[in-house]
Amino acid sequence: MIKENIQKVKKIIGDSCIRSKRKPEDVTLIAVSKTKPVFMLREAYEAGCRHFGENKVQELVSKYEEMPKDIHWHMIGHLQTNKVKYIVDKVYLIHSVDSLKLAQEISRQAEKKNIVVSVLIEVNVAGEETKFGIAPEEAETIIRDMAALPGILIRGLMTIAPYTDNPEDNRQYFTRLKQLSVDIAEKNIDNVNMDVLSMGMTGDYAVAIEEGAAFVRIGTGIFGEREYVI
Ligand SMILES: *Cc1c(COP(=O)(O)O)cnc(C)c1O
Repeated sequence: MIKENIQKVKKIIGDSCIRSKRKPEDVTLIAVSKTKPVFMLREAYEAGCRHFGENKVQELVSKYEEMPKDIHWHMIGHLQTNKVKYIVDKVYLIHSVDSLKLAQEISRQAEKKNIVVSVLIEVNVAGEETKFGIAPEEAETIIRDMAALPGILIRGLMTIAPYTDNPEDNRQYFTRLKQLSVDIAEKNIDNVNMDVLSMGMTGDYAVAIEEGAAFVRIGTGIFGEREYVI
């Protein structure tokens, strides 16, 4: 089932690329495997997935240890500063940097290990109170402050659009994130790249790709519904 789901998702990615005259290789599919058991991740791996997304530090670390080493791990969930040290050397990209304090801690831990960690700045473009992420108006200032940190490389922006049944509702947020990245790129801030946009989930990734997503984060569309045990 997972294999077929991945094929379906890839077909939709391909179709969105054709519609928007983009190259399929410029869009990376992240299989969001949070809450799912390792055997399901293996199935996705067998089907060709090499990018996995997790939102909890402990879960990412334990899956990192169990799964093959050629996987690129993406931290996509809210990250507490005291847990940064467990993942800095295991993640390919941290999508959820939402404060200067967090960026400073990532940089500090990266320096200790002599690495530079790629990060995205999470922006709350829809202004939802329940969501993490910095306000679009604050983005430039905070990115300027982060740019000087030696242990991180800012690669672009990430957003989580509101939950909706109609993906077209979210197009406005994707275009806003894209525009914000263009505006910031024009400032030519040292050590800051704006070439990566992480946007689009199961409900809206086709639209996100049309608006310029480089990473789409798909959970339900690959692994099925999540069951949360509280
Ligand atoms: C869970 C999650 C996803 C995947 O959501 P689906 O709707 O299941 O595709 C994507 N991004 C983030 C940040 C998530 O937490």
